[in-house]
Amino acid sequence: MKKRIPFLALVLVLILALALPALAEPTECTHERKNPVAHQEPNCTERGWEAHMLCADCGMPFDLAGSPLDDIPYIECNQDHDYDTTQWGYVDDYGHAHTCIRNPEHHDEIRFHYPEDPEVYPLVCAECGYVIQEEPVDTIVTVTLPFLLTVEKTGELDPGPETFRFVAGEFIDSVELTVTKDSVETNGEKTYEGSFVFTIPESQLRILEEGLLFYQVKEDAQGWTYDSTIYYVMPYFIDLPAEVEWRILLLNEEGEPDYNNPQNQIVFTNLYNAQKPTEPETDPTTEPTAEPTTVPTTEEIVIPPTGDGGQPLLWTALILISSTAGICTVLLGRKRNIHMR
Ligand SMILES: [Zn+2]
Ligand SMILES: [Zn+2]
Ligand SMILES: [Zn+2]
Repeated sequence: MKKRIPFLALVLVLILALALPALAEPTECTHERKNPVAHQEPNCTERGWEAHMLCADCGMPFDLAGSPLDDIPYIECNQDHDYDTTQWGYVDDYGHAHTCIRNPEHHDEIRFHYPEDPEVYPLVCAECGYVIQEEPVDTIVTVTLPFLLTVEKTGELDPGPETFRFVAGEFIDSVELTVTKDSVETNGEKTYEGSFVFTIPESQLRILEEGLLFYQVKEDAQGWTYDSTIYYVMPYFIDLPAEVEWRILLLNEEGEPDYNNPQNQIVFTNLYNAQKPTEPETDPTTEPTAEPTTVPTTEEIVIPPTGDGGQPLLWTALILISSTAGICTVLLGRKRNIHMR
């Protein structure tokens, strides 16, 4: 037993002596065997590289002259896509494009959608089938145009109940206005807040923004003078269709909107002129004078032939004078009547 211990120790020493130098000094590659690597073009997805050499033993890169390189001489990706032109792989709200076979994220130039028939809903892109627009639901919108109506009396009597009507003249024929409120009821001297209300398909609001003529209907109620101002009103729908701002213009001498002189509000002023019931002596000009002069002249015309026919010229002259006077008074009377209205 005692002889075996030195033998084992000897074996251990031998093993260590052989193994230690290998651990301390690893064998350095001398890169004797270098394999050429051909130039590789990059594309949109994979990078390429310049022609180079790689050591078959350690993988170290070298240039073609044999000088060592820090890394493989890569060439970065480029725009070399491989588009699949058999289908529109890319579709968004605006258009369609072909996608890259290497990477579906890549697409070529986006072409705008276009409908086969722009009149037929839903609008479908003739190329890719994308639904550009569903059939629009054209809601009916109520639009209110506020204005003021002032009633003033210019005569003796107070104005009684009266209704005034207004019109929004369609500047563009293509808009379909349906008027739901067009009148203001008044009773006495006051400024009334009026509103002209109509409905219109929402799709036509933009057309409506080009403007409307707004004016009063001229009726013939006794004693009233109607304000004949014509406004040119342009709605601006800030938030379709809830909020509307009105641009109010007057017409210039050429009958065109006067953009240089915008108005703050629409105001109409209607005047009422009526006198207190007339007493006989206060107004003698109209009827009393007309009757006495006209009636006698007709009688005078009948009288002459019965008298002495010696002075026919004088008679004729008299008849002419009196009848002319009669006609004048009648005409004057009428004219006055017209003015009174
Ligand atoms: Zn090597
Ligand atoms: Zn690509
Ligand atoms: Zn399309």
